[in-house]
Amino acid sequence: MEKILIVDDSAVQAAQLKAILEDEYDVSVAQTAEDGLRRAGAEHFSLILLDVVMPDMDGFTLLKKLQEEIITQSIPVILITSLSDVEHEQHGLVLGAVDYITKPFNALIVKARVNTHIKLYRYRCQAERQSMTDQLTGIANRRKYERYSAAKWQEAARLQVPFSVCMFDIDHY
Ligand SMILES: [Mg+2]
Repeated sequence: MEKILIVDDSAVQAAQLKAILEDEYDVSVAQTAEDGLRRAGAEHFSLILLDVVMPDMDGFTLLKKLQEEIITQSIPVILITSLSDVEHEQHGLVLGAVDYITKPFNALIVKARVNTHIKLYRYRCQAERQSMTDQLTGIANRRKYERYSAAKWQEAARLQVPFSVCMFDIDHY
């Protein structure tokens, strides 16, 4: 079952969304942007539903932070808001949100949009996996090494821990 993270300061609103989606998905809720950011980096979510208006850190700021981290930047984010004006929608999409859902929710529309973006994410992951694996041996290729080491480097810097690399030449190639 694909995992979805809802980041919303309103427990009522999060519960509404969860009720719409929990038949088909494994849905988690974070009530603050801080918690959302932490969980997004630690668990494997296929989609994030993100409320724009929240105290402390708002949805736009969290979206930017998610985009900056290699481990979270490919997770699709759908923004949720009652602010249906064009400017907010534009701002969110420019920042990298894949879609926009406005309150009050229509269950069928929420489901349809979520299903579409989960499907697209699945295809993208599959293509990415294929592009980072050696076809003959099934072993990770150079592209995977470059991406993975950059992500680990960033993670080590964030956690302030040492970063080491070991290289083994196994075939003198
Ligand atoms: Mg809110």
